[in-house]
Amino acid sequence: MISFTDEELERYSRHIILKDIGIEGQARIREARVLIIGAGGLGSPAALYLAAAGAGTIGIADADCVELSNLQRQVIHFTKDVNRPKVESAAEKMREINPDVTVKMYHEFVRAANIGPMIADYDFIIDGTDNFATKFLINDACILAGKPFSHGGILRFNGQTMTILPSRSACYRCVFPSPPPPGRVPTCSQAGVLGAVAGILGTIQATECLKFITKTGTLLADSLLTFDTKSMVFRTIALRRNGKCAVCGDNPSIRELVDEEQAGCDLK
Ligand code: ZN
Repeated sequence: MISFTDEELERYSRHIILKDIGIEGQARIREARVLIIGAGGLGSPAALYLAAAGAGTIGIADADCVELSNLQRQVIHFTKDVNRPKVESAAEKMREINPDVTVKMYHEFVRAANIGPMIADYDFIIDGTDNFATKFLINDACILAGKPFSHGGILRFNGQTMTILPSRSACYRCVFPSPPPPGRVPTCSQAGVLGAVAGILGTIQATECLKFITKTGTLLADSLLTFDTKSMVFRTIALRRNGKCAVCGDNPSIRELVDEEQAGCDLK
C-alpha cells in the first residue's frame, strides 16, 4: 500500500498527474537511490532536478571546492559558496529545495579503490565528471557491478550523452575503447564551454535517471545523443555492444579496476 502525505501529494502533483508516472512512479522515485559523481556543470542541474523530483536518497561525490570560475555554469553553487566544498554547497541546496530528500556527501576523489563500495548502495549513477580517466573508471566500475548509469560530456557549444544498461546495451568503452591521448581533446578550461550547455546536458541526464526509475519511455541505451547548440541540431546515433569491448565484450580483459593516469581532458 503506497501512502503519501497531503504535502507530498501537493508537492509532486505535476508528476502524479502524468499518466506514465502516477502515484506508483512517484513512489518509485521516493524509493530511488541515485549517485551523482561530480558536483559541477552536469551534476548541478542533475542534483537540482532529482532533489526537486523527490528522489529518496541522492549521493553526491566531489573532492573540489567551489571556485569563482565555476559559477558561470555550476548553478547549484552561489557566490557565497566560493571556497566551500562543492558537496556541502550542493547538499545544502538540495535540502532547501526538498527536505524530504536524504543527501549523502562523498568529499573525496573517485578512484579505483573507493568507487566500488560507493556505487554499491545506488540504483543509478550519473557521470558528471570532467576527465576521461574518471569517465572510463565509472564505466568499468558500473559494468563490473551491473549498475546502470548515464554518461555525459560537454565542450564549447556541444554535448553528448548515453545511458548504459550493463550487459543489455553498449557501454562507453564499446564506443570509445580507450581514453584519447593526453592533449588530444582540449579541456573546458582551455577551450571553454557555454554555461547553458551544461544545463541542457545535466538535465537530460536527470531525465534519463527519472525515466529509468519510473520505467517510462525509451532510454538512450544503444544510442548516443549528440548536440551542437550553435545550430541546435540534436542527433542520435544507434549503437550496439562491441563483442571486442575490453569490459563488456565476449572475452573481457578488464576484470578489476585500476586508476588510469589522469590525462588532461576536461569535459566539465
Ligand atoms: Zn562495452
